[in-house]
Amino acid sequence: MSEARPGQRPLDEALAELLGFASALSDVESVSTFDADGRVLAQDLVSGLHVPPQDNSSMDGYAVRCADLTQLPVVLPVTQRIPAGAGAGAAPLAPGSAARIFTGAPIPAGANAVVMQEDCELQDGAVRIKVQPLPGQWIRRAGEDVAIGATVLASGDRLTPAALGLSASIGMAALLVRRRPRVALFSTGDELVMPGDVAPTDMRPGAIYNSNRFFLRALLLRLGCEVTDLGIVPDRLDATIEALRGAASQHDLILTSGGVSVGEEDHIKPAVQVLGTLALWQIAIKPGKPFAYGRVHDTHFIGLPGNPVSSYVTFLLLVRPFLLKLQGVTELETKSVAAQAHFDWPRADRRREFLRVRHNAAGGLELFANQSSAVLTSAVWGDGLVDNPPGQTIAHGDSVRFIPFAEVLQ
Ligand code: AMP
Ligand code: MG
Repeated sequence: MSEARPGQRPLDEALAELLGFASALSDVESVSTFDADGRVLAQDLVSGLHVPPQDNSSMDGYAVRCADLTQLPVVLPVTQRIPAGAGAGAAPLAPGSAARIFTGAPIPAGANAVVMQEDCELQDGAVRIKVQPLPGQWIRRAGEDVAIGATVLASGDRLTPAALGLSASIGMAALLVRRRPRVALFSTGDELVMPGDVAPTDMRPGAIYNSNRFFLRALLLRLGCEVTDLGIVPDRLDATIEALRGAASQHDLILTSGGVSVGEEDHIKPAVQVLGTLALWQIAIKPGKPFAYGRVHDTHFIGLPGNPVSSYVTFLLLVRPFLLKLQGVTELETKSVAAQAHFDWPRADRRREFLRVRHNAAGGLELFANQSSAVLTSAVWGDGLVDNPPGQTIAHGDSVRFIPFAEVLQ
């Protein structure tokens, strides 16, 4: 193991610089709460009521006063019936009586516990209670979920299905969210062929199918972007300049794959430099390495490597937080959790590695046998990445950092 090569930048440093170029899009829009899954809130949600609005029963049973139940069993007359949705109708509970009550129904004034029906027997208009209730038993308190005035969600939160439900629970029918980023996507490479255009048996020598286009488009859509898919751009400087120029005016970001090295067939760098500015970074990660950020007129430009796994991993680690920041998301960190390696990784690399792994039945992580940046099968087989620091070997049983795909694909 040797030191990272000069010129190769640590991921954290590159990410911090990249995020420094992104600021939240200023436009916001109101969308129905039904349609807001995955969108980013552009307002704080402050509750105008308690949730639940009043004390209510969490059981079907009988509302009682605990003071009436010191000697057991007790027989109490049932003086009223309170179903869910009963409003002001419920009368205060007189001492020495019980009220039939159902889940979600308001607790009558004076009652301080609910006895579940399984612990009661009904005897012509009266209820025989065999157990001593504790004060507060089976009562859900007003405001125990949300107190009036509480901020339930904040600007910059990404909405999940549960968050939509919570928003609805405080009466929000529509939500103010950040507009979707508009992203132009193209793939570079003369070897690329579209599935459907040429049958597998008719592929010319040297040709490969364009796989990056499919996962990059899907990843962008999952992140809430509007995608303009510009297809394949040939490995020619003029064509690359034309594609970039065309994409710049209508989009917030131009995202490309391939052509970001500095070979003769790599035209991204000179093309971006003709139209704007470019920083080409060698990032000390594996897979990954070449990554470009720049500007074409006022539009952000990001160039990903061509190798499919490099493209996939750099998207997740760099482009994803960038796009979240454009949408105003405040929590940008890629979360990892501790996990146990059930594999050996005896050869340390000078770069920080992102190994494709998956959980086995014992709860440990197994390694996909081929970690090549060209083997996309690894990303399908795996359920996440081990984030392995530079210079680190791994032995069976070691604790490692694991980034679940479930976390970074949403
Ligand atoms: P490049 O970064 O253009 O030098 O490409 C690196 C490797 O990734 C080459 O083997 C390319 O054929 C391959 N590659 C580039 N773009 C794609 C793509 N869209 N789909 C699949 N493989 C690609
Ligand atoms: Mg290429």
